[in-house]
Amino acid sequence: MNQIYELPELPYGYSELSPFISEEQLKIHHTKHHQGYVNGANKLFEKIDKSRKKNIDLDMKATLKELSFNIGGHVLHSLFWKNMAPEKNGGGGEPSSALAEAIKNEFGSFERFKKEFSASTGVEGSGWSTLSYDKKTDRLLIMQIEKHNTNIYPSCEILMVLDLWEHAYYLDYQNEKAKFVEGFWNVINWEEVEKRLETMVK
Ligand code: MN
Repeated sequence: MNQIYELPELPYGYSELSPFISEEQLKIHHTKHHQGYVNGANKLFEKIDKSRKKNIDLDMKATLKELSFNIGGHVLHSLFWKNMAPEKNGGGGEPSSALAEAIKNEFGSFERFKKEFSASTGVEGSGWSTLSYDKKTDRLLIMQIEKHNTNIYPSCEILMVLDLWEHAYYLDYQNEKAKFVEGFWNVINWEEVEKRLETMVK
């Protein structure tokens, strides 16, 4: 039996990122939207398995496009939940140690990084902004993902990611995405982001 994708539990309670992300907003995002991508990816694998068993041809272009979208949605949401933490548990503030150093080396200062990252949140349509690490060049860079799977740099690992789909903030902020982005700085789990960098830098 092949493994299937599963919805991970959040590392905090639904109300704990409030007032930056409300309980209602977080709950619907996790249990409906993220779950939808998990279900979508699993269904596609079922479809692929069935087609092989019965030796039926699939529309490969459409199937793989949909699979990329759903797996991307699942993977990005899983990273996103983990790179946030309630303020009382250390969310927000500024990065320290090797990550602070790497940000300073690449962007000049944390403030400059913050400015560039905030500007990257104007992704066209639905998407994500990430702070990523390029293993090839040992550099940090911002990756702006459209949908869940477009504009990805294949050599990069994601250190920190922010969901910029309307479903991530609309209940709390309506059309004011910039306010949601401002709030996000208060719940970033820099410790987790540092850990991710540590596992990548050899
Ligand atoms: Mn989302």
